[in-house]
Amino acid sequence: MFKLRAKALFSEWRPLWIVGDGQYASLAFCNKGLSVMLHSDRDKAEKAKAEIDKYGCGGRCTKKHAVADLLDIDLDDLAIRCCRPPKRNAAGRRLEEL
Ligand SMILES: [Zn+2]
Repeated sequence: MFKLRAKALFSEWRPLWIVGDGQYASLAFCNKGLSVMLHSDRDKAEKAKAEIDKYGCGGRCTKKHAVADLLDIDLDDLAIRCCRPPKRNAAGRRLEEL
């Protein structure tokens, strides 16, 4: 059940939707919020990201796309590379929510 984990991990970004299931997520921080697509392996996630890199993720694409391993994720790094969450909680709080 990676969907629940993704929901908790990315809660600060207030995901618009989370689809699929699996350990690897392709993420799009464009538009009004985060869209998350879950995949069973990294290859599929990378392919999904490559596609939205190429064609855009729809709406107002600003190319803020990433791939993340839900079991080995650095949210701070993600925030720096892609997009900071609208409202940042303390790190401790975030861990408790998991
Ligand atoms: Zn995009």
